[in-house]
Amino acid sequence: MERNEAILDSIKRLDAVWTVLHNLENVGFEAYLVGGCVRDMLLGKTPNDYDIATNALPEEVQSIFSRTIPTGIRHGTVSVLQNGERIEVTTYRREKGYRDARRPEEVEFIASLEKDLARRDFTINAIAMDRQGKVYDPFYGKSDLLERRIRTVGNPAERFQEDALRMLRGIRLATVLDGQIESSTWEAICLYADRMIMISRERIRDEWNKILLSDVKTGMQWLIRSTLLGSIFPRLQEIDTEIWLRAGDCSNRLSEQADIRQAALFWRLGIDRHVAASVLRDLRQSKALIRSVLAIMEAIPETDPLAWTEATWAAYLFQYGQDPVFRALQVVGRAHPEREDALIARFHQASAVQPLWSSAELPVSGQDLIDKLNIPPGPVVGQLLDRLVQAVLREPALCSREALLAQAAVEYRRQESNPRQDDGR
Ligand code: ATP
Ligand code: MG
Repeated sequence: MERNEAILDSIKRLDAVWTVLHNLENVGFEAYLVGGCVRDMLLGKTPNDYDIATNALPEEVQSIFSRTIPTGIRHGTVSVLQNGERIEVTTYRREKGYRDARRPEEVEFIASLEKDLARRDFTINAIAMDRQGKVYDPFYGKSDLLERRIRTVGNPAERFQEDALRMLRGIRLATVLDGQIESSTWEAICLYADRMIMISRERIRDEWNKILLSDVKTGMQWLIRSTLLGSIFPRLQEIDTEIWLRAGDCSNRLSEQADIRQAALFWRLGIDRHVAASVLRDLRQSKALIRSVLAIMEAIPETDPLAWTEATWAAYLFQYGQDPVFRALQVVGRAHPEREDALIARFHQASAVQPLWSSAELPVSGQDLIDKLNIPPGPVVGQLLDRLVQAVLREPALCSREALLAQAAVEYRRQESNPRQDDGR
């Protein structure tokens, strides 16, 4: 065990984590920070979440803290709510009964921290730290971390046969940490890649989303070389490596947001919105993410926006909305950096004079048309409003109540005398 003063300070700052560790120890249990949070703290990064491992049984954890949630009690996990934080406390455990390369159905609570660390996937994720900042590292994870080396705890073939998701986690960690995969671990990934078929789409999605927010191109290289890319995107297997790498490169240049990066990737892959939607649904991405990716893809212009007239810009902003347009132009701009500044400047200029963002902003309503122009209620009212929107987008000066009522009267008379035009054909 060794001591690390800097980390000790950072733990102390984390009041809630400190209190939970302390309260468990205070009544005679062992308690350690484990897994990703220790890895991230040793790297000087702020962890996403804090996991504590203890020899206390779940019901004992529940009895020590006043506010708990039985998050995964069957697997030994109780969430403790402390100082507004939620901290996962999990009883030391061993996993049994791996079937079909999936997560185990059964777990056995055990008394040994070392055995708990032994069930973890990679050495860098199998380090424990107590509240004094002492590190417990039976699998030499720290030296692997220093070298950014991804190595399984124990025999990689066995570990991947137990749970195939670990292969993708290994690639995700190598990507996020900009590291290397130790050779026997890598050979086993290549050998067992086809077992990813057993893994749920949701678990694959979670790892993909982390790759997407890091160096996508590097991740893509690992995924292609190991053939694991096919398990994430089974429908896109025909696409050439070069095209994937170009798309990964394009995606990398965008800000770290899943929707814009995913949209850039699909756009560069040259796949259409319908295929994109089905690929995202197949990956069990959230409805909100799918909606957002498709909105960005839809807004990617097919012709050169720098050559458009004011009216074309107005119609474009109106149709797709300011935010999707901005993000779509970022995608296009990052792919053509020499044009990016001009595109964004043009976007701001057009936004500043945009006459209308939605039909609700028209200064006349359907009721006005009915009251003032004696138009009978019905679909014709909606059609007239649409025409007024188009007219304002073409000619922003028309956007006043008087001008639009006059315009509506003209349009209505024209429609009455030639009803076939209503079809919009
Ligand atoms: P992140 O920073 O993205 O949260 P993480 O490594 O903490 O990464 P988690 O899913 O939060 O990932 O898992 C917490 C810890 O649980 C891991 O660090 C690892 O020790 C262990 N673990 C997670 N998934 C597996 C797995 N499939 N097999 C073995 N151990 C795992
Ligand atoms: Mg974590």
